[in-house]
Amino acid sequence: MILNKESKKWGIVGGGIMGMTLAHRLVKQGHTVTLFESASELGGLVSSWKMGDIEWDKFYHVILLSDFRTRNILEEIGLEDKIEWVETKTGFYMKGKLYSMSDTIEFLKFPTLNLLDKFRLGLTIIVASNIKNWKRLEKINVTTWLKRWSGSNTYNKIWLPLLRAKLGESYQKTSAVFIWATIQRLYGARRSGLKKEMFGFVPGGYKTVIESFKKKLISEKVFIKIAHAANEVKISDNNKPQISFTHGIVDETEEFDEVIVTLPSGIAAKLCTGLSIQEVAKLNDVEYLSVICVAVLLDKSISQFYVTNITDDWVPFTGVIEMSALVDKKYLGGNALVYLPKYLVANDPLFDWGDDEIKTYFTDNLKKMYPWLTDDDFKFVGVARAKHVITVAKLGYSEDLPDVKTSIPGVYIINTSHIKDGTLNVNETIRVAETKLDEILN
Ligand SMILES: Cc1cc2nc3c(=O)[nH]c(=O)nc-3n(C[C@H](O)[C@H](O)[C@H](O)COP(=O)(O)OP(=O)(O)OC[C@H]3O[C@@H](n4cnc5c(N)ncnc54)[C@H](O)[C@@H]3O)c2cc1C
Repeated sequence: MILNKESKKWGIVGGGIMGMTLAHRLVKQGHTVTLFESASELGGLVSSWKMGDIEWDKFYHVILLSDFRTRNILEEIGLEDKIEWVETKTGFYMKGKLYSMSDTIEFLKFPTLNLLDKFRLGLTIIVASNIKNWKRLEKINVTTWLKRWSGSNTYNKIWLPLLRAKLGESYQKTSAVFIWATIQRLYGARRSGLKKEMFGFVPGGYKTVIESFKKKLISEKVFIKIAHAANEVKISDNNKPQISFTHGIVDETEEFDEVIVTLPSGIAAKLCTGLSIQEVAKLNDVEYLSVICVAVLLDKSISQFYVTNITDDWVPFTGVIEMSALVDKKYLGGNALVYLPKYLVANDPLFDWGDDEIKTYFTDNLKKMYPWLTDDDFKFVGVARAKHVITVAKLGYSEDLPDVKTSIPGVYIINTSHIKDGTLNVNETIRVAETKLDEILN
């Protein structure tokens, strides 16, 4: 432990990966930390749920070889050597047919694109993975950039359906940083020692990770307050930042030297009393996409692909993620586990559909894609939703971002909107936590 000259009392709102990382790093520097989490367990987006007899992540998660910050935390909590690395394959569902796109030969055989289109598609990926100065891509619309390198045919047949699937109609205002960051992440995995695409997981999924991380925090004397929902952060009569929270039917208040809020920007704006009008406007301006993710347990696998990208627009979900193409079925009670995510722009009415309607809509379409699936094959179907997931990286995104340090003395807002040159993932979340904390402390 590096003891700080001045040990302070910190309060952190939000017990997801961001809040847990901040707590872990702060206590290592000799500070005292209390972590407030409104749910009954830590984890947030990486938390798990019961699916029949097994428990696994609500939303699909993989670790990449290049996720060095995630792997570093896993090392610190004793799990890095438990990661199982698997070579995965990628599929494409196009015009009612499934294609493998996992190596160069398959890429060259891929239908609907001519040789020139394929050359330009490959070139786009090489160009994106070699660009270092992402800042200049922030000034270019993703469509303009992709058409420039890939051409209109490939854009319309491949990129546009993929952009729509991941960003809804928000793709129209998204900058080229989005596609650059996506390609960099996937290419980074291939570059990390092995040429093949290797994805990793910890047996037991993120439940194992969160349990070990929680044990670590407890051993480091972090005060973990689960089922404690913060409802206001403001300056107390003693001129110190204070958190008001509800635990059961009890309302309480606690003072700190410093407070960090890790909640989505608009929610953080509502929580913190005393922000300037400009700060509130900036925070509210950060636009988030939501996600609905249907998880399905089947008694057999549906494909060999971890990810199947979908370009047919009649399919309501963004892709098919077959977790069991990565995770050995012995960890999944012998079942195949498949996720069907759908990313939505704010206020999309689909988000408010009832669970049963969504289950029927998604599974009926899954059966259309894989006609040999029968109702008897489905052992569990569940619907997970999250309102604030990916931020829309508009033109000039990084320049419009609210500062981490607010005008309320001792109050900071750090969340995944601060990922400005990466995609939303655990590694980037940890990177934001660690780099922003360094900025605050130094
Ligand atoms: C569908 C999907 C797939 C993904 N796939 C991957 C992947 O394959 N690999 C990867 O690395 N990452 C993946 N991610 C991203 C990863 O899950 C996130 O990067 C990470 O979990 C973000 O953590 P966070 O702490 O910032 O946010 P959150 O997990 O949202 O944490 C915020 C916490 O604050 C709590 N909270 C809210 N309000 C209050 C309040 N008033 N008081 C106290 N607490 C409160 C919430 O309950 C929550 O626990 C995926 C995410 C999604 C949605």
